[in-house]
Amino acid sequence: MLKKNKLFVIVALVYMVLFVTMPEKANEALGNSVYYLIEMLEVLPVIFLLTVVIEVLIPKEWIMKHFGENSGLMGNLLSLLLGSISAGPIYAAFPISKTLLGKGASVSNIVIILSTWAVIKIPMLANEAKFLGASFMGIRWVLTVIAILLMAWVIGKIVSKKELITETLDSTKSKVYVNEDYCVGCGICSKMLPEVYKIVDRKAKVNLSNIHPSHRIMIVKTIEKCPTKAIVMNMDRTSVH
Ligand code: SF4
Repeated sequence: MLKKNKLFVIVALVYMVLFVTMPEKANEALGNSVYYLIEMLEVLPVIFLLTVVIEVLIPKEWIMKHFGENSGLMGNLLSLLLGSISAGPIYAAFPISKTLLGKGASVSNIVIILSTWAVIKIPMLANEAKFLGASFMGIRWVLTVIAILLMAWVIGKIVSKKELITETLDSTKSKVYVNEDYCVGCGICSKMLPEVYKIVDRKAKVNLSNIHPSHRIMIVKTIEKCPTKAIVMNMDRTSVH
């Protein structure tokens, strides 16, 4: 328990020390924490609802086509648009980005969504124009967009999606499952990794209890090789087939 909640334990200890040594600072800090906690409670339910909508209602093919590796400039522009029309604090973008990544979005487009969300979303631009003037806002927007696109391209080259997926596979929360609607029972996955996949009634099934960290590279390969993209890794899913 303590190991899993290291950060929480450290914060609690700091609070205890503060309350003993500087009670005024401790009260101030507690007030700030409560403020942010309330803000998170207001924002996060909507965000989780959005991630569920993306997960359940938006087909993987659609995400791959519009935000995936081959989406090109159009994918970049759509990501820019998605980040721009967003609202809320940047931490709200992380669960959405994680869901998009799991459904086939490219690393570059995730970088664009996160960066745009953080620094050039429309509500922010409107405030900026009001206080600092439209030309200041316009020039900053153009330069920031150029920087974001460059950064996305560089990060897309340096960080491979395979690395991200294999890292998350180490997490006990990560789940691999087969979308039975897409599976055509070709058996490629079960031939590549019989310890994890088996074909039952012409559909692939995942045996989660057999998944071992040493399988992670092969699991990523089966995700890539599956002809119908039926194998999905969902970091938050709790029920699996
Ligand atoms: Fe189904 Fe894909 Fe496995 Fe073929 S490779 S059996 S389509 S999950």
